[in-house]
Amino acid sequence: MDIAVGGSRPGDSAHASGRRRPNRSEAAAAVRTLIEWAGDDPDREGLKDTPARVVRAYEEFFAGYNEDPIALLATTFEQTAAYDEMVVLRDIRLESHCEHHMVPILGKVHIGYLPAGRVVGISKLARIVEVFAKRLQIQEALTAEIADSLQEALKPRGVGVVIEAAHQCMTTRGVRKPGVSMVTSRMLGSFRDDPATRKEFLSMIAGHRSLPNES
Ligand SMILES: [Zn+2]
Repeated sequence: MDIAVGGSRPGDSAHASGRRRPNRSEAAAAVRTLIEWAGDDPDREGLKDTPARVVRAYEEFFAGYNEDPIALLATTFEQTAAYDEMVVLRDIRLESHCEHHMVPILGKVHIGYLPAGRVVGISKLARIVEVFAKRLQIQEALTAEIADSLQEALKPRGVGVVIEAAHQCMTTRGVRKPGVSMVTSRMLGSFRDDPATRKEFLSMIAGHRSLPNES
């Protein structure tokens, strides 16, 4: 996984949103405020390097803003006349953060598509999940973004994306429902229109839909 790691980026670049990006020390000051808000002393020994560590962690958690998913897929086309059956990649590890509470969403992504002359390397399918997961997300949007980008880049006969994930904002706070997972799907083209294709995809991922260990 190539993740942008601290030190490799200027601290004051413009964001995709067009807003001025705070620099690292401004971000660290915000973390310090949250520590104080939680009720602790940001100057005590165990916490004094925490704001800087959190900022570096955020650079990894949200590295997806720096990548263009379509460019990622466009560079890896291969022609394939010989293979026109369904391609399925199951159990892609999902680590994202919910945009409402900024806490982890952990789960699995299953992707299937029916090629129309082109395929993409399986590592690229995993990378495309990362590009969208390493942003602030809701699961419904994440599912749609992965499917739509594959449709746009590969122009296959159909695409299916299923995500099953646990949201820590549900399991560790609020309603506190450990063990609950949410399933979302996006079916495009023949995956939506052809019941046999949809059924084939769902049967290929059946049994792989189980809640991942939260670690
Ligand atoms: Zn949430």
